[in-house]
Amino acid sequence: MTIAVAGGKGGTGKSMVATSLAFLYAKKKETFLIDLDVECPNDHLILNINREKKELIYQTIPKWNFDICRKCGKCALACKQKAISFVPKKYPAFVKDVCIGCKACFLACPYGAIVEDRKIIGNIYEGKNCGINLISGELKIGELASGEIVSSVRKYSDKLFTNRNSKMVVIDTAAGIGCPVIASIIGSDYLITVTEPTPSALHDLKRIIYLGKHFNIPIGIVINKYDLDKKFCKRIEQFAEEENILVICYIPYHKNFVKASLKKKVVLDIFPKYIKIFEKMIKNIKIHEKLYEKIK
Ligand code: SF4
Ligand code: SF4
Repeated sequence: MTIAVAGGKGGTGKSMVATSLAFLYAKKKETFLIDLDVECPNDHLILNINREKKELIYQTIPKWNFDICRKCGKCALACKQKAISFVPKKYPAFVKDVCIGCKACFLACPYGAIVEDRKIIGNIYEGKNCGINLISGELKIGELASGEIVSSVRKYSDKLFTNRNSKMVVIDTAAGIGCPVIASIIGSDYLITVTEPTPSALHDLKRIIYLGKHFNIPIGIVINKYDLDKKFCKRIEQFAEEENILVICYIPYHKNFVKASLKKKVVLDIFPKYIKIFEKMIKNIKIHEKLYEKIK
């Protein structure tokens, strides 16, 4: 089973939920936590893991054969990223860092003067602690193709999962609803959306739920720091009811959560009193999944 943990808004406690869930699942079966917040991965910090670099991620870029190039400028015109600049009668100039590898310039050149080259855009790491197998993707600073990193990490994980049928997979996605988040949640069996009782979090929750529904994934809402504004929680509950979605967990606000992160520990590891809350979440996911299967 694969559970994706998304948040819409950043800072809602997504990684705390993902690592806590993985912590509990790992006590029962082989568990993988995939950190797909590839611009700022931090699950290895929460789990105090010294990650080992496993694979480089490359992206295709163009390379010019100036013996063939006729200085027509069509490649520069085709590049919407403005990675190619062109001055009449001169060879095109290329800014590698801005290139997203769309290959439009390859197609635009009428003389076949552009061939494939590649650049490194990120890394895949692995590590283990608390029984959790961590796989983590990281985009190189200054690069743009975070969606590409997510896809590469998912392909890498899929290969690793071959012949491991009873495993549990928890995916920690990036904030937002863009390409990297879509690439993270596709193919998941369940989507946990973590929110908090604030108008901006509710606004972003609506957007991530729209995404989950579009991909037909059963969704549960986790309200983190619910006790900061119980009145606003009612608005989230009302929204959940209108959308026919379950609120599967309420997590209180407490400095213990900050303490755990300062100590680089999973909160459940040093404050077991919160285990009950997450066990209830797991129970609700099971019930919800069964209900969803019946409706399907
Ligand atoms: S591959 Fe795409 S982004 Fe890169 S230089 Fe060519 S057209 Fe521009
Ligand atoms: S389109 Fe081809 S021939 Fe024209 S400038 Fe670009 S590389 Fe040279």
